[in-house]
Amino acid sequence: MQGVGFRPFIYRIAVRNGFTGYVRNRGDAGVEVLLEGEAKKIQSFIRELTELKPQLAQIEKINRAELSGKNEYEHFTIFKSSQDAETSGSIIPPDIAICCQCLKELRDPKDPRFEYFFITCTDCGPRFTIIERLPFDRENTTMRKFPLCGFCQKEYEDPANRRFHAQTVACPTCGPKAYLTTNTGEHVQTKDPVRMAGKLLSEGNILGVKGYGGFHIASSAMLEHPILRLRTTKHRKEKPFAIMAKSIQATKVFAEVGSKEQEFLTSPSRPIVLLNKSPSYNLSSLVAPHIHNVGVMLPYTGLHYMLFDKVVDTAFVMTSANPANQPIVKDNEAAQKILGDTVDYFLFHNREIAHRCDDSVMRVHGDRRVFLRRSRGYAPAPIRLKQKSKRCVVGLGGELNNTSCILLEDKAFISQHIGDVENIETQSFLQEATSHLQRLTNSHVETVACDLHPKFNTTLLAKEMAQTNRLGLVQVQHHHAHAAALMAEHGLDNVVTVVCDGYGYGSDGGAWGGEILHCSLESTKFSRLGHLEAQPLLGGDLASRYPLRLATGILQKAGVKVEDWLLQNRTHLPHGETEAKLILQQLKVGKGTFETTSCGRILDAVAAVLGVCFERSYEGEPAMKLESIAMAGKDILKIQPQMKGDVLETSELIKAIFDSLGRVPVADLAYSAHAYLAKGLAALAIQGANAKSVKNVGFSGGAASNQILAQLISESVESAGLRFFVHEAVPAGDGGVSFGQAVVAGFSKF
Ligand SMILES: [Zn+2]
Ligand SMILES: [Zn+2]
Repeated sequence: MQGVGFRPFIYRIAVRNGFTGYVRNRGDAGVEVLLEGEAKKIQSFIRELTELKPQLAQIEKINRAELSGKNEYEHFTIFKSSQDAETSGSIIPPDIAICCQCLKELRDPKDPRFEYFFITCTDCGPRFTIIERLPFDRENTTMRKFPLCGFCQKEYEDPANRRFHAQTVACPTCGPKAYLTTNTGEHVQTKDPVRMAGKLLSEGNILGVKGYGGFHIASSAMLEHPILRLRTTKHRKEKPFAIMAKSIQATKVFAEVGSKEQEFLTSPSRPIVLLNKSPSYNLSSLVAPHIHNVGVMLPYTGLHYMLFDKVVDTAFVMTSANPANQPIVKDNEAAQKILGDTVDYFLFHNREIAHRCDDSVMRVHGDRRVFLRRSRGYAPAPIRLKQKSKRCVVGLGGELNNTSCILLEDKAFISQHIGDVENIETQSFLQEATSHLQRLTNSHVETVACDLHPKFNTTLLAKEMAQTNRLGLVQVQHHHAHAAALMAEHGLDNVVTVVCDGYGYGSDGGAWGGEILHCSLESTKFSRLGHLEAQPLLGGDLASRYPLRLATGILQKAGVKVEDWLLQNRTHLPHGETEAKLILQQLKVGKGTFETTSCGRILDAVAAVLGVCFERSYEGEPAMKLESIAMAGKDILKIQPQMKGDVLETSELIKAIFDSLGRVPVADLAYSAHAYLAKGLAALAIQGANAKSVKNVGFSGGAASNQILAQLISESVESAGLRFFVHEAVPAGDGGVSFGQAVVAGFSKF
């Protein structure tokens, strides 16, 4: 592995063991060492190599060979990197948050890097986002434009120094500079742009702040007016904003932080962790409206720490600067053009971002992390698998929340978060990110994997890629990909999986999303053992946007007279009474409606019946709000799951909830709905697993990040004597689909 202080480490242990020779990085991200000295010292060298290696280094494999001939070296040296690239699959690390020692120096008035916002060392700093090509040398990164000053050069060359051969070393004299401008690009004169930016935030201004992997839009997390303004200009009515908190202590005031959560928050990856709001939550309610949790990250660069220095604020809103359906903004010029209308000021720096990378997002269920997005701090580090793939595959993923994945032997390299591949910008980001990943891993792709949906941009792209490069093509059903991801992550040969999410193109062309699938690692085929009842989507896509339509369709089907109820709720439809009457008309005709077995849509319908949410203004909103309400509830209704063959009925559930309105607290109804689905889905999975003599039952898909569902399904499965599996290394949602596709195409016999 390159980029974690490995060569300096080798240097030290080689010299200590009396060797001469060299160490150098290779073009395939491997490290080559030549040792001349006493043969008996080799063992102690190898032992120190594995036992004392730098904290962030991982040794994948050691290839040893004995050389003949005379000794040639008088000293041990760190050589200039070679371009040799014979092996594949070595790694360059993700970006690493500022380390403790650098943080100490940042605050030490006697240190030459005192208050230098981009202080780093061999143990910390940007990696993935600044690397243009391998090997990881300064000239191959965007640090190339900042030649070392005498002081930094001296440290860089000193084996005893922490910055010996640190590629990102820089100081106020030679490193990147920060500067503040207005939204039209005029420089704001100040000696202290970073802390000035913090003050501007505190006073209620909105700022574009350039970080490692892209721009954040930042504002106060206490004042209402900047957040309101942000919501209006970003067209984000209710979507929660992530915040950056000053410290872990500050976080504990407004959120509940468990020990696992603290571990992830303070880890070198510094993800956004969803935390339950505490009783003393004191940030603006507009940060994360109507949900029980708030996404929090801690500072990961000196710049972020310094933003808080001169203000009383304990947190700032820090949301990715990505305009609707566009990738996160990374270049200064683009920022000014695209974000100029949204922000009042920019805090720029003059280092280019080679590869954009959004923040990672996770929540913690019990002791287990659940990725909602696996990106900065994790990508492109590989997921290690128990078995080796039969071929090298690239998976291009689905459509929403997408990633791509390269599967090479027993490693899966999943790209950073790409976003919704619905337009040309995200599509070219996907292409760029994928070919970069291919170069970094030096992989020679044999097969392309994609979704079954004939019209996804990623499907078209995969077909084109396969044709142009004469590669194999494997199309994988969406929920099968989810299940395969789970199988590979846990090294299982077969599994019965409950896969629940919003939408996936079914093998019969239908809209699936509440599925029980049986599949095995060596087959491209799977069987559908059961699913949720198909329910009408009144008005097609409109029904996903306005869940009142879903609820109306289901209630009518269950025999409820819905006229009065719908008319009472007409104000929750964008066109009010006219629309309500049209819907009722449509119900009478009763034909030509699309149907879906989606679990997400059932949760949406429950949210509408309970009045918890009437519009999905962001992905998963009604279901997330329903879960938030349910957290305080109990299974009061205790409805027995109704099965018709291998179908779990949901009409009766919605009717039962409807009939209990006003008699039972909303929280209990919300919880009861979760309990019904969990018990029913688990029963179908257990029945299927027993029929197939399979011992493993999994839960995957976006809904698996729902804590109540995951908990209840696991209880049922385990009490039936089966083993229960959920995702830990990859997202349960669509960010894990590219990996699942690659697994199906890579491990199958064909
Ligand atoms: Zn450091
Ligand atoms: Zn310097």
